[in-house]
Parts: sequence; C-alpha cells; structure tokens
Amino acid sequence: MDIIFYRKINNAQLWDKIQKLRELIKSSKTFKKRVCWKCGKDLNIYDFLSDNVEYTPKAIFKLWQNPLLEFHCCECFKLLKSHELRAIENISKTRKCLYCGKEIDLYTYNKRNNYLKIYELKEIWQDPKAEIFCDSLCRKKYNREASRGVLNLKFKNR
Ligand SMILES: [Zn+2]
Ligand SMILES: [Zn+2]
Repeated sequence: MDIIFYRKINNAQLWDKIQKLRELIKSSKTFKKRVCWKCGKDLNIYDFLSDNVEYTPKAIFKLWQNPLLEFHCCECFKLLKSHELRAIENISKTRKCLYCGKEIDLYTYNKRNNYLKIYELKEIWQDPKAEIFCDSLCRKKYNREASRGVLNLKFKNR
C-alpha cells in the first residue's frame, strides 16, 4: 500500500491534501474500511484522493464515509469505463472536426481528452452543437478564423 501511496505524490498541492486528509482520518472515530464492490479488493483512501485531486480533502473524506456510495478499484473502474464508452459509441461512433471536417472516433477523442469524466464525455459526444476538434491545432485555427469572421462564409459555402 505504502509504495502506491508514496509513488503517487508528485506535487506539493497533493502532499498538502494528503496531510489534511490524514488529520481528518485521525480525528474520526469511525473511519470506514472500504473494498471494491465488484471484486472485493481493499481500497485506499489516498489512491481515491490522488485520482480525484479536484476535490478537497474534506469532500473526499465525506464521500468515503458516505454509506450510500460504493467504490471501485482502478481495474474495475477501467472495465466499467470501457463498458460506458461502448454505450456512448452506440450513440455515435464518430464525430466530425468542426474545423477540417475529418472524422474523429470516440476512443481517440477520449484518449486525447482523458481529463474528461465519462459523463462529461457523453454530454459532449451527444450534443450536436458541441465544438469537437481533431486536435488543439484545429481548435486554434478555428478560433482564429472565427475571430476574423471568415468562418460563417466558409461554412455557408459548403
Ligand atoms: Zn475491483
Ligand atoms: Zn480538424
């Protein structure tokens, strides 16, 4: 456990959060032991924190202690995510780049934007108005041309 825990500390902010979380756990009399609800593997709250660094230590602690929530280990989560990706793929396999019109498949898009949570990815993918680009270059070109007002013309002529 400790090996995973120390390897994942890679910045001061996370370290600070870990310290705060430690204090919260120490001051609590009923710290929950958790296992993956699917495979039964022991779960570590510090792994949970480092996978969800956007949350405060307090929020992490509250989620962890919430009796209504169940947690997955990393492997089961990955599996779950691949199931959900398949479900999103059923909505549409590909989208077109708003700038160049090239087709982008869901898996490529997901890999490039892996900071997106699965529900955010789903929202973007099924929204016909969502601005989807092959890469940041197409996004930049699009924004540059949009600011010059040439895009409307270009798209009207298509
Ligand atoms: Zn599991
Ligand atoms: Zn493009």
